[in-house]
This record gives sequence, C-alpha cells and structure tokens, in this order.
Amino acid sequence: EPVAGSALVIEGVSKAFGGNRALSDVTFTAKPGHVTALIGPNGSGKTTLLNMVCGFYRADGGTISLGGKPLPTRHPHEVARAGVSRTFQTPNIPEGMTVLEVVRSGRSARERVGLVPAVLRLPSYRRARESDRGEAWRLLELVGLEGHAADEAISLPLGMRRLLEVARCLASGAGVLMLDEVASGLDEHEVPRLTNIIRGIRDTGGTIVLVEHNFELIMGLADEVVALAHGQVIAHGNPSEVAANEQVRREYLGA
Ligand code: ADP
Repeated sequence: EPVAGSALVIEGVSKAFGGNRALSDVTFTAKPGHVTALIGPNGSGKTTLLNMVCGFYRADGGTISLGGKPLPTRHPHEVARAGVSRTFQTPNIPEGMTVLEVVRSGRSARERVGLVPAVLRLPSYRRARESDRGEAWRLLELVGLEGHAADEAISLPLGMRRLLEVARCLASGAGVLMLDEVASGLDEHEVPRLTNIIRGIRDTGGTIVLVEHNFELIMGLADEVVALAHGQVIAHGNPSEVAANEQVRREYLGA
C-alpha cells in the first residue's frame, strides 16, 4: 500500500528580521497529492517561508504541522526526519561523491520509506528495502540519471544536479518535497522531464510545494497557487483564479 504524504499546514506564521516583517500571518495548507505553488515578487517572503518550514529559521509566531502533528522545526535534521525534504536554488551537492553515492546519502536521514515504494511502483515495503543500492539505482532511473551513476556529482550540468537533488529527496523517505526554483536554468528538454517527474510524485500521494517564477510552468503543473506580496498571502486558489486576481496581476505580473 503506497505511503501517501501528509498535509503540511501553515497557520498564522510570522517572521521579522529586525524591523522588517518578512512574513505576516501566513496561512495555507499544502495537501498530499497536490502541487502547491508559492509565487510572489522578489522579497515577498517565499524563501523565508521555505527556510522556516525546514528548520533554518524560527518563526516569531504561528504553527507549522504535518499530518496533524506539530512539525519539529528547531533543527533541519529534525524536519528531515519528520519527512520534509527540500531542494535549493543552487543545488547543494557535496564534493567528492558519485551521482549514485549522493542518492544513497539521502537515506541517512531516513526513518520511513515515504513515497519510494509508490514512485518506484514496488509491491511492498519489503521490496523497497531489497537493497540500498538497488533502490538508489531505480531512483536514478526515475530521474533519468542512470547513465551518470559513476560520474562525479558536483561536475554535472545544473539541470542534472537539480534532478539529482529530487532523487536524493525521495531517497530520504520524504512525503513532502519543497522545491526551490527547481526549473530555473533547465533547458527545453529538461523542463518537461522534470514536470513529468513532479506529476508522478504528486500522483503517488506526494505533497509538493513549488517555489517558482516561471508562470507557464505553474499554470501547467500547480493544483493550487498561493501568491505572496510583502510577506502576506494576497491570493489563494487554482492557477486560473490566482492569475485572474487583480492584485496578483499588479504585484506579480506587472499588468
Ligand atoms: P523571496 O524569496 O520571495 O524573494 P525572501 O524570503 O528572500 O523573499 O525575503 C523576504 C524579506 O525578508 C525581504 O525583505 C528580505 O530582505 C528579508 N530577509 C530574508 N532573509 C533575511 C535575513 N536572513 N536577514 C534579514 N532579512 C532577511
């Protein structure tokens, strides 16, 4: 039985840096089996929110919960253990590791199998544990990097490093994937591949939060859009509702 992701519930979250209110009373839910896109102009608070969920910053107020329980956000490792994994705007790939080793390293945070059996279409939890190496290999196949397994990971082109980070997130057993501008710098072949991978993860019950600038990608991929401006949610709904919102058009699309 696939292990579905859990709802990530953000309620009344606020954060200030000195006198600068980066987030004010932000509330939304990222549902399992949905892609929730977080949009907004530069400085609107997207990265701050991601960093807060992932335990890099402490919120001044509000609650963040996962599957009905408060998410332990004191430390990034605790968040990872709870099943929330992220990618970075600049892929965070260590030096001196092969592509296969990077995927296997994702398991170090792992206490659950997360979406792995489902995305790899494995019949059971037992099969998912058949071997670390076998599973890492299949995750590489999922993102189309199996031909690069033995390559030095840090030397891969940007697009491949982004796909590798996604595979590492899955290997960690995460049910929630927070993807920070995951399509930026990808070419016209890589974007559709990434889009299909994200849809596959969503369709197996993953909870996906996408911080993204590419409006076309959002319209094609997101189930729900949360628009931020000046640290506040200014619109929330399906992509066409949000795209039609007057304040979004003014703030974000410059229309
Ligand atoms: P976005 O990701 O939407 O571009 P950010 O979350 O990076 O927005 O920034 C939101 C606001 O918080 C901005 O005014 C930014 O200057 C401020 N900010 C973000 N991180 C820090 C920090 N570490 N220290 C001080 N101010 C910060």
